[in-house]
Amino acid sequence: MLKKYRTKPYTVLCYEALYRRLKDNYRNNKVLNQEYLNYITGYRGEQTVDYKLSTYPHKNFYIYHDLRLKINHNYFQIDTLLLSSKFIIILEIKNWRGELNYNSDLNHITQTFNNVEKGYQNPISQVLSHEVQLNSWLQATSVFGIPIESLVVISNPTTILKNNQNDPTFYSKVIYADNLISKINEFNSKYTKNVVNKQMLNKINEALLKGNIDYRPDVIQQFNLNDNHFIRGVQCDHCGSYPMVRAYKTWKCNECLYTNPTAHVRPLLDYFLLHKPTITNSECRAYLQLDSLKNAYTLLNSMDLTYTGKNKARKYHAPKLADFPQNSFVPNKKRVRLDL
Ligand SMILES: [Zn+2]
Repeated sequence: MLKKYRTKPYTVLCYEALYRRLKDNYRNNKVLNQEYLNYITGYRGEQTVDYKLSTYPHKNFYIYHDLRLKINHNYFQIDTLLLSSKFIIILEIKNWRGELNYNSDLNHITQTFNNVEKGYQNPISQVLSHEVQLNSWLQATSVFGIPIESLVVISNPTTILKNNQNDPTFYSKVIYADNLISKINEFNSKYTKNVVNKQMLNKINEALLKGNIDYRPDVIQQFNLNDNHFIRGVQCDHCGSYPMVRAYKTWKCNECLYTNPTAHVRPLLDYFLLHKPTITNSECRAYLQLDSLKNAYTLLNSMDLTYTGKNKARKYHAPKLADFPQNSFVPNKKRVRLDL
């Protein structure tokens, strides 16, 4: 039973919002492109593994994608967690390409791809530390005695794995996505005794969902951006000009005469991703380059956002992560490729 499904994480959504809101000459930034590529590649690898898992008849498991939990002031993030009344499995998903060389003495992985070598933190240490952290988290939730297994799942079937020192831990912990189901079956045969009852299982489920705190990057601070880097108002998704002008219940581009009554929706959602999780009427007017208080009121109310406060102090709140659009639309897309 899928209890928490995967959506694009904030990291990916925020970078995509940056591509939409940055002026053309700032969009094609090498660091930005590389970091976005890393995040989107990771996300796609996770989706590949989600698909493999969806073919498994998992009625005895609760499945959670992208869980970020807090223990002792530290956060730890689990790509996928499978919970049953007998045991828990943690999956760390790696969408690494090329050849991976594992060195158990150095506790290190070296990737060779397109003749470029790159080092990574040992993913086995990573999952082992997740086991410890999850165990502490469960104890803090008054759950004891449930065994935890963990696996590193390589999502790309063409990746070559090399374990030159024949470390047995590597063979038991690192698998290809194609072997995930048989590995789960192995655990099923190993753990046959119920260690938590149905009531406790539901308690863990509720605690996991409630304890999840999604990571939101502050990309403006990270890239040291200010108002001069961003386009002003609503950009025409036909020709790329801005700002579009609001008149007669629609947005009109004065360059190409394209009209779109809902052209404000995506920019407002991007405001939440990039600037703040709330917006007031006056912030909305400044951001969308609107003169009319009433227009801003109408547009904000048309978006079905929750709000707090009254009149001028009213704050409209960002939707939940799962409610952000999942497509990677960028106006005037010919200048930037998002499907890297
Ligand atoms: Zn236009």
